Amino acid sequence: MPRIRQQNVLAAQWTPNGGALGAPDLTVADNQVFGSNVFSIAIQRQRLPKDVFRRLQQTLARGEALDTSLADAVAQAMKEWALERGATHYTHWFQPLTGITAEKHDSFYAPTGEGTALAEFSGKELIQGEPDASSFPTGGIRATFEARGYTAWDPTSPAFILENPNGALLCIPTAFASWTGEALDHKIPLLRSMDALSKSAIRALRLFGDASAQRVFTTVGPEQEYFLIDEQYFFERPDLVTTGRTLFGAKPPKGHELDDHYFGSIPERILACMLETERELVKLGVPVKTRHNEVAPNQYEIAPIFENSNVGSDHQQLTMQVMQNVARRYGLVCLLHEKPFAGVNGSGKHNNWSMGTDTGKNLLEPGDTPHENLEFLFFCAAVIQAVNKYQGLLRASIASPGQDHRLGANEAPPAIISIFLGAELEKVFGAIERGEAGESTPESFLGLGTPVLPPLPMHGGDRNRTSPFAFTGNKFEFRALGSSMSLSLPNTVLNTIVAEAIDYLAEELEDALKGGVELEAALRPILQRTYADNKRIVFGGDNYAPEWHAEAEARGLLNLRATPDALPYLVNDETAAVFSNYGVLSERELHSRYEVFLEQYVTKLNIEAETAASIARTLLLPAAARHLAVLNEAELGELAGETAELIASFADAIKALEAANLAENQPHDDLLAHAAYMYDALIPAMAAVREAADKLEKVVADDLWPLPKYAEILFIK
Ligand code: ADP
Ligand code: MG
Repeated sequence: MPRIRQQNVLAAQWTPNGGALGAPDLTVADNQVFGSNVFSIAIQRQRLPKDVFRRLQQTLARGEALDTSLADAVAQAMKEWALERGATHYTHWFQPLTGITAEKHDSFYAPTGEGTALAEFSGKELIQGEPDASSFPTGGIRATFEARGYTAWDPTSPAFILENPNGALLCIPTAFASWTGEALDHKIPLLRSMDALSKSAIRALRLFGDASAQRVFTTVGPEQEYFLIDEQYFFERPDLVTTGRTLFGAKPPKGHELDDHYFGSIPERILACMLETERELVKLGVPVKTRHNEVAPNQYEIAPIFENSNVGSDHQQLTMQVMQNVARRYGLVCLLHEKPFAGVNGSGKHNNWSMGTDTGKNLLEPGDTPHENLEFLFFCAAVIQAVNKYQGLLRASIASPGQDHRLGANEAPPAIISIFLGAELEKVFGAIERGEAGESTPESFLGLGTPVLPPLPMHGGDRNRTSPFAFTGNKFEFRALGSSMSLSLPNTVLNTIVAEAIDYLAEELEDALKGGVELEAALRPILQRTYADNKRIVFGGDNYAPEWHAEAEARGLLNLRATPDALPYLVNDETAAVFSNYGVLSERELHSRYEVFLEQYVTKLNIEAETAASIARTLLLPAAARHLAVLNEAELGELAGETAELIASFADAIKALEAANLAENQPHDDLLAHAAYMYDALIPAMAAVREAADKLEKVVADDLWPLPKYAEILFIK
């Protein structure tokens, strides 16, 4: 595999252009694969007239609207580049609220009426598209307004070409809005939240004497977990095909008890698939870096180098898409569901998050000087305050049916949001809180007796794998995301709530500085107050321990186990206020999201429950009955009796599930009540059917059992 040029990627992160555009500013020589399918800054510089290139970069840097002549020139260059690379169609590539990416392909060629065709693609087509918004979820916005919507080019995320064995497609990252200007997608609020955070952070940086940074970018580096299984088994399992997870399956005799999979050597077919996936991603400019086996059998992880949140989120969507496509070329299916196999470790997505300036400074990096450390502690304190205040919202931002099997169940991470700071940092904040910093000499660091912070380990060492929100040396790692999720919403939330906290602290600091107090003296009481008020959210122990749950409750922390418990925090007064104050989501936009998520929850569980009932009745019950006949024929009375009993309770459970599935038995007038019904009534009914089925799986003749078993699915590589 061609070497990914990490250095360049990293160097490009926070330069004004690299930061704004995200595209690593590489010179793409012919023999280099990285970004070869990306309309990167380097390509733009090569292909755009000099003044157009310059004006485009300026417009982007200032965040201004593009004028049409500029758009026409860019469209022209983009089209020529795409046609040369074999593209025949283009699409506005966007993220509706379904969480998956949407595409509507249009041909570059328009008939001329003289029997020939002309490649047509101007600024108009580049800037704006018109997919039928009525086919995407819009929540309340659809009910009261026209269903029409439009997609708008996001010039800050680079266009790219998706190759297919039979052609290529130019993808133009876009935002998706209603004609009334309301966001119908995940990108618009993310961009708005990045702007909000930038403003707040720049305001704060000025107080620390940083006059050069013009913009702050939030950054994201996701670690994606997934399963690869043989496609034959996938297609023999209607539950996997329709719901992405197995609704039945007894625990195999061998699980991850032997711990032989994690970081084990990667089997050849899997490695071949990974290599091709990575090559495809590298062409698309996704800076993939690591791969390894995960805890469960057939479970793996892929992680890129971090990028700005907008580009990183687009790239994450692309990564999931490419992983699924490439897997099929190897007779594999890539499962992104949070919990494809009961009793086996599920899949998540660690969301590494930080803030960096356009001058290349990471605001969550403890520095080498007392001054840098003050700045670091300020931003760190803002994160602590934000996470404590908005625990419920953070939990809501990652809620989904798949997540209910992980969070709040017996798996990592727990549904209780808490922060792991690491022993050193906790000590530092503890000392500040106790006022031990008070009598500091000018050269000491807040009176801790050292000129600078004790070096905080960046890797290994001080780790807490059980924490849902951990400081890991120079970034926070929000570990509770689900493996199939878009990164956009949780990052939108993080950016917005931290923007608010930064402003809050900055205002206090401004007031203190007005009195002529020196920076360190002004900051000390603010840090002290912030930590004292918010330290209940800080927890360094084992998040799985039952004692923690009791302690968290005593501390007044939320423990929102299920999606219907969590989603109301998306629309409570505090959330509505912070989103509207920062111009990220209006109350209507927020409510429409809430409705869409509830609707999706209900729909997905309905599909699962109906699939479970159908498999049970039409596949498993007949198999069990046939097996019973075999036992009877062989005059194995005792065994037949046992089996008959299992079958009887299985049949009862099926009937109960079918009754629970009936529409007339479900509350329809209130979406939240409906979601709660799905959780409280349907899930236990499905579990009961499954429990009976899994017992039968262990006694029914293997050749009669119609579903591939866990042992096959999980261990064939
Ligand atoms: P692990 O969590 O397995 O120890 P690493 O520490 O190597 O992994 O980093 C994990 C992820 O964190 C990578 O995707 C990396 O790009 C990302 N990351 C590193 N620095 C930052 C940052 N400043 N902002 C956002 N993500 C970051
Ligand atoms: Mg990690």
